[in-house]
Amino acid sequence: MASKRRLTEYEKKRDFARTPEPGPQRRDGGGKARAPGFVVHRHDATRLHYDLRIEIDGALRSWAIPKGFTYDREEKRLAVQTEDHPLAYEDFEGTIPKGEYGAGPMAIFDKGTYRLARGTDPGVECATGELKILLYGRRLRGEWHLVQTKADKGKAWLLFKSKDRYEGGELDVLLRMGVGAATAWRDGEVPATMECGGERAPFSASAWLYEMAFAGLRVCATTNAGAVSIHAGGRDLAPAIPNLERALGNVRATRAVLDGVLVALDANQRPDPQALTRALEGDDASRLVLYAFDLLAYDDLDVRPLPLVDRKALLRAALPESTQLLYVDHVVGEGERLCAAVSAAGLPAVIAKKGDAPYSAGPSPEWQRIPLVPDAGARDVAVAAALDARPKRRARTARVKLSNLDKVFWPDDGTTKGQLLDYYDAVAETLLPYLQDRPIHMDRHPDGVGGKSFYQREAPEHLPEWFPTVPIASESKGRPIRHMLCQDRDCLLCLANLGTIDLHPWLSRHQTPDSPDWAVLDIDAKTSPFPHVLRIARAARKVLSSIGVTACVKTSGKTGMHVHIPLKAGYTYDHSRMFCEGIARVILRDHKDIASIERTPAKRGGRIYLDFLQNRRGQTVVPPYSARPVAGATVSAPLTWDELNSDLHPSQFTIHNMPRRILEMGDLFRPTLSEPQDLLPAIERLQGLLGG
Ligand code: MN
Repeated sequence: MASKRRLTEYEKKRDFARTPEPGPQRRDGGGKARAPGFVVHRHDATRLHYDLRIEIDGALRSWAIPKGFTYDREEKRLAVQTEDHPLAYEDFEGTIPKGEYGAGPMAIFDKGTYRLARGTDPGVECATGELKILLYGRRLRGEWHLVQTKADKGKAWLLFKSKDRYEGGELDVLLRMGVGAATAWRDGEVPATMECGGERAPFSASAWLYEMAFAGLRVCATTNAGAVSIHAGGRDLAPAIPNLERALGNVRATRAVLDGVLVALDANQRPDPQALTRALEGDDASRLVLYAFDLLAYDDLDVRPLPLVDRKALLRAALPESTQLLYVDHVVGEGERLCAAVSAAGLPAVIAKKGDAPYSAGPSPEWQRIPLVPDAGARDVAVAAALDARPKRRARTARVKLSNLDKVFWPDDGTTKGQLLDYYDAVAETLLPYLQDRPIHMDRHPDGVGGKSFYQREAPEHLPEWFPTVPIASESKGRPIRHMLCQDRDCLLCLANLGTIDLHPWLSRHQTPDSPDWAVLDIDAKTSPFPHVLRIARAARKVLSSIGVTACVKTSGKTGMHVHIPLKAGYTYDHSRMFCEGIARVILRDHKDIASIERTPAKRGGRIYLDFLQNRRGQTVVPPYSARPVAGATVSAPLTWDELNSDLHPSQFTIHNMPRRILEMGDLFRPTLSEPQDLLPAIERLQGLLGG
């Protein structure tokens, strides 16, 4: 029996009158019957890191892992051993107050039990500097390896995945998605299938996924610790299809329950219902293929409550390489395009599914069947083309005649004007609420990035007559000028068709032009390194949350970031400007070396410019999801505050991947529309911070 470890270091570092963390009492694990536990905390301290804590000898042996976990076996992550924590820490979640050791929010990222992969005493294994453990968490599964190194007086360990069925970076999807809604899978349950709740004509909507429908037999395939079944109508087909049985046995999970369609393919890889019947009657089963399109259970989790996009991401990661067990891919938002291709391939239907919908029993409005009239004349169009990621042209609107679609707008990578139009078409539903009723300026690049450009505040004469405009008094011109409003998809496509790459709406609406909806702190980087920008954005958030203000953050799409603070009605630009100036001044106290509020660029000496002067009538800030006229076809990307870490770079968000991100993350900027705040109390608290 290893000696009980003392928690003196844990105790010494903390003031239990101030921190909400549990006291240093040791307690026993409750006897041998209970499997020992582990917990991983996501600790948003000075630097975000993950703390792995393993129950050993009546306390939690702890390691801080700066880069977190990965299922990729090749990646060895540094794990710095820290002081032992009391067992009660397994359930601890809370914010350690400022000034205390480890100040910042501490949240449970994963929790479960573990077993030793070898040996019998984890304390002894640890003392040898090598610990192999099997984790049974929600996100962390399978065998993991901790190895002590000589660095940092032995405090530096390496953590990595061992070789087993869970190994492989694809499964990192488990670390990224929200698993909180998943419940425990009840063994023996025969799940009722989800069905289409109706039929619709082809449509495109960014919140929907579109899959091909396969003519075949709907089955529920289960693999559980090596036991495989393929159920259809009370019959288990698995023994009749040995190849498929084998493939299912290789799924990267201990248990998986899949929803799919069993299909027999003809020589042209086309579903053949007669061949299916023959195969099931004992004929050649080698041409049977299972197309899996949904995942109901993963290990001991019932994942049906999770959004479809997450279930499918996990399904894709869990499927082994196989020619008989295939993943049914989908396109996001582009329903009409897929329908056209599927119909051209002579196939009967597309299924549209709401991306955020849980899996529910029976017919659901969140699944819709789109029947197609097969276009027999165009059978040579390969089905694979239907799922080709590259968007194709579509005739989208009768009101706007789109032109020069093949013109290259981004010469560095050949991205065309047509792709820009496709992008705005795909994100219109998400983007338009940020433009509604706001005067919008055009910055036109008719020849794309690098070509001539011109900025237009006033609606040009040649604008189509249906395009909404509104006269607003101009202080500088001494007369009202006619402003454009981007109210719907056609307006958006019309602007883009005129060569407008990025959008420039006001911060106020035309009905109340002097009253902004958002205060914006523009972190204008120009040539400053992006890690500096991230530091300033994090500092901004700290200041804002210390005065009880919530805000959203996004990349500008170029080199900086924007922090948007949603305001209740009735505030003026003087309020929002003063407020942002105050925030900037508090930030500067600790960051004079990398940021400045000097208006003259020369005086800033390459430092970030904290620009609060944008908070003025007639000034514009690009909205979330706006494309930018810079190399890479980048977009202004809303972020979660958690994403502001060193791995982030604004170039990773482009018109090519943003529609998918919206589907996966939702609209992260929505609180700026739905959660307006009182500014006056915040201004008072800010003045307190500024010392009067
Ligand atoms: Mn920590």
